[in-house]
Amino acid sequence: MRHILVTGANKGIGLAIAEAILKEHADTFVFLGARDRERGRAAAAGLVSEQPAWKERIQVVALDVTNAGSVSEATGVVADGLRGDALYGLVNNAGIGGDRGLDAMFETNTLGVERVFRAFAPLLASTARIVNVTSAAGPSFVATCSLDRQRFFLDAQTTWPALRAFMDECLQITGGPPAFAAKGLGDGSPYGLSKACANTYTLILAREHPSLGVNACTPGFIITDMTRHYVESQAKSPADLGMKTPADGAKAPLHLLFGALEGNGRYYGSDGKRSPLDRYRAPGAPEYTGA
Ligand code: NDP
Repeated sequence: MRHILVTGANKGIGLAIAEAILKEHADTFVFLGARDRERGRAAAAGLVSEQPAWKERIQVVALDVTNAGSVSEATGVVADGLRGDALYGLVNNAGIGGDRGLDAMFETNTLGVERVFRAFAPLLASTARIVNVTSAAGPSFVATCSLDRQRFFLDAQTTWPALRAFMDECLQITGGPPAFAAKGLGDGSPYGLSKACANTYTLILAREHPSLGVNACTPGFIITDMTRHYVESQAKSPADLGMKTPADGAKAPLHLLFGALEGNGRYYGSDGKRSPLDRYRAPGAPEYTGA
């Protein structure tokens, strides 16, 4: 069995990823991560009611990516569940959006990814796949930055301490968008900035762990609880807004989990095609082929 941990898998895209893994790959076992155990159990029960045989292939794991104690406990639970086996895959999907501040965005969307990877690294197979579900908001944010800042985000030699120091620098900026703009950081969008940092972290991980298959992707513009407020504020349907379903959002992550490994430290669009880290590439546009 190939064992895969998906964080934030109790709903939305994470749940769709868990379902697609179970449906499309019969030799898999999913550790369904949920910060609230009961919400995780309810999600697992929903999957099992759809396909009773999946009961043997799912284990709910309480895992709050912002909480070091929770991550550590989850590591123990997964280690027990693996029974000596190694993790085939880790999908860092848990994320927050909306109008939460930069501190909260960093905690979940960037530091959460690093915290989970660091804790689970000893359980990973030597060729494990790591899929960081980031967002097109990352490259779109980088596009608004100064050339110096863009170089920083794209520097494959960047280290985690350097990225961490940069994040601390961002947290010290007060004065809103004009203050971020003055420092070459666009409008300082907390979500875009946190996802740009998660993409840069993907570069770091790939360089530091060359035997792993580490990549990031955007799921696309997907109708979930995260985007529902936006939909409700528009007088249009999700389809008219160009939004897709969580099952569509699972496609790029599944490609990076199971498809032929095309490279390491790359960022992919929702169509499963390679995309640049410093500008938006629309699904269907020519694939990015740069260094
Ligand atoms: P949802 O809000 O529907 O789901 C987010 C999931 O993450 C939930 O399971 C949530 O748990 C979980 N989560 C949040 N914080 C934590 C935490 N501290 N620890 C563990 N789990 C946590 O959002 P989506 O499904 O839309 O988002 C999934 C990922 O896709 C995110 O990383 C998001 O940024 C990314 N994304 C989404 C896009 C979209 O259009 N929807 C576009 C681009 C990227 P709980 O139920 O307990 O809140």
